[in-house]
Amino acid sequence: MRPIYSNHKEKLSKLISGELSLIDNVSYFLKNIEKNNHLNTFNFVFEKEVLKQAEIIQDKIKNGTNGKLAGMVIGIKDVLSIKDKPTTCSSNTLKNFNAIYTATAVQKLIDEDAIIIGKTNCDEFAMGSSNENSAFGTVLNPNDNTRVAGGSSGGSAAAVSAGLCDAALGTDTGGSIRQPASFCGVYGLKPTYGRVSRYGLTAFASSFDSIGPFANSVNDLSIILEVISGKDEKDSTSADEPVTEYIKFDKKFEKIKIGVPKEYFGEGLDTEIETSIKNKINELREKEFEFVDITLPHTQYTIAAYYILTTAEASSNLARYDGTRFGHRTKEYRSLIDMYEKTRSEGFGKEVKRRIMLGTYVLSAGYYDAYYRKAQKVRRLIKDDFDKVFEKVDLILTPTTPTTAFLIGAKIDDPLTMYLNDIYTTSANLAGIPGINIPIGKDKNGLPIGMQLLANQFEEEKLLSTAQLINNII
Ligand code: GLN
Repeated sequence: MRPIYSNHKEKLSKLISGELSLIDNVSYFLKNIEKNNHLNTFNFVFEKEVLKQAEIIQDKIKNGTNGKLAGMVIGIKDVLSIKDKPTTCSSNTLKNFNAIYTATAVQKLIDEDAIIIGKTNCDEFAMGSSNENSAFGTVLNPNDNTRVAGGSSGGSAAAVSAGLCDAALGTDTGGSIRQPASFCGVYGLKPTYGRVSRYGLTAFASSFDSIGPFANSVNDLSIILEVISGKDEKDSTSADEPVTEYIKFDKKFEKIKIGVPKEYFGEGLDTEIETSIKNKINELREKEFEFVDITLPHTQYTIAAYYILTTAEASSNLARYDGTRFGHRTKEYRSLIDMYEKTRSEGFGKEVKRRIMLGTYVLSAGYYDAYYRKAQKVRRLIKDDFDKVFEKVDLILTPTTPTTAFLIGAKIDDPLTMYLNDIYTTSANLAGIPGINIPIGKDKNGLPIGMQLLANQFEEEKLLSTAQLINNII
């Protein structure tokens, strides 16, 4: 039986009243994971531990000593470390690697009595938009198994969408939470850069990577964010900004001004998505919301800047997988260089190799100024666009993706088309701002449509409160 609660608050009150048994609930999820094995959402499931944990947490609830997330069943993207558990990044390079410490974000969930049910599938090292670049195979979209779940956090999005857990953590470097959330029809939040500690997250592009939640409600995103946010001594880029309860309905949110950028509604946007978003805008206009047309003039450079800067950072971050200290090492080699070459050729998949080569190229002497330095300057201009707009509006509303979930195999041989799928999501990572995917309906094929809301840095409270208001209206 599918869980009979719509968010964690409700679940917890049912657990407290005894109406719901946590052991039954966890068993249900385990069975459902098995039943949906074909979706390929989990790389590892912690069957043995979770039932035991359910017992312990059930007791804590009984005694009133439980944490905020007591009994919430959460999947963790397989790029985040959990001590003594595999952290593979869906790569052959790390297929036999067990983590030696736990990521701060995961530890904070555990400390609040969440139950970690397993590690979710993703694109190798979080590089991809379709979850087809995984050593564990493609994740299938629960809404239509011939279509992709999106990427790179496809396993997390699909697991929440298929009811295999209450929530999941993913990571978003250029859209990897918002895009799969949109394709699978769930809520997904990319927090401000630095809001959540990256300690224990395998680095892809360190100045872009953010950890955030997937869930079936804005409420659950909000409570998870509250738990995982905050300054962490182990990550010097984590921000010392106050952590609050993120859903509040202050007077100040009653008249919210939302900017609609013209650059996000142009060529390439599926007409059904455009129409449903415009309809939502009209519905919201009739309520308290005010909409204004805005311009983000450097939008056309986002994909280029994103793929230059992130590949540069990736080529440097992935240099550590050379077979010397951990991870895969080739069996036979003649010299050290030969060992490095063979190890890396065998361990990495095609897309990861492509990014390492691109990144090495844009950083190399003679090309650095033309590509890397220029892209850094463009990043600044994109950030300036947002700064200017946020002087006038509270939030920005856009589509999350140009199309709904595409067919498996449709784009995998054409990297440029695949990269263009990130057209509306990469800007938030370039600017370091938070963004959320809100599911707003389905297209004629029954595939979920998503809408993206963006806020200024550290304005998650405004973002989540408004998402909740919108949710109550539409
Ligand atoms: N699809 C984008 C990429 O392949 C985003 C990935 C991500 O956010 N991790 O780079």
